[in-house]
Amino acid sequence: MEKKTAAYICSGCGIGDALNIEELVSLTTGDLKVPICRTHANLCSQEGAALIKQDIEKEGANALIIAACSPRVMYDVFNFENCIVDRVNLREQVAWSQPAGDENTQMMAADYLRMSAAKVAAMELPVPYKPEKELSKTILVVGGGLAGMTSAVEASKAGYQVVLVEKEAELGGFQKKVGQIATFPYKGLVDNPLSDLVKEVTSSPKIKVYTGARVEKTAGGPGVFEVSIKQNGTT
Ligand code: SF4
Repeated sequence: MEKKTAAYICSGCGIGDALNIEELVSLTTGDLKVPICRTHANLCSQEGAALIKQDIEKEGANALIIAACSPRVMYDVFNFENCIVDRVNLREQVAWSQPAGDENTQMMAADYLRMSAAKVAAMELPVPYKPEKELSKTILVVGGGLAGMTSAVEASKAGYQVVLVEKEAELGGFQKKVGQIATFPYKGLVDNPLSDLVKEVTSSPKIKVYTGARVEKTAGGPGVFEVSIKQNGTT
């Protein structure tokens, strides 16, 4: 990515009272060789954000140093699409925590700007992961007890193909031992509806059931897993 760096220094929230902003601008445009450097008394305002947007659109700025408050706040205001953004925390880490007007405070702010310029020079926009194979939308459910069968049914209702693997010869798990279950709010008992759930699973065209089977091997990664299932001695 060909970068055009721009720096924005906010003087609001006491930053301008604690620091010599002009010195920071001359450091940024001088030693740090950042071609665009602007200051604003309220960078998070509509007007401040518009200043940055204008540079993105008209000047082609795409690597932005925002020297203002903590990156934990104003995230949405300073989130610009397709731009590298580095936030320099001049407010909490410098102006609010160091003596105002002190030489060391000024040096600290200057060092944070230097670090940001170096960081932005080395940063690249993240590239979305593109798998070599098409992503699989089949869901593997291991275990055909109440939880596994419920997961399989819900995933199939959401439109996914499901492979359900159960090590025992029959579906049901521990729930097969339960004759009756309590109804909410626990006033009565009804027959365990497990057999209905088993029917729903086994009759669904979207769920392929392997009983008496185990997952022998998994390989690949998210979306491109390959799974070997062993059933009756055959893989
Ligand atoms: S909240 Fe941040 S961007 Fe807004 S005025 Fe204060 S330091 Fe500047």
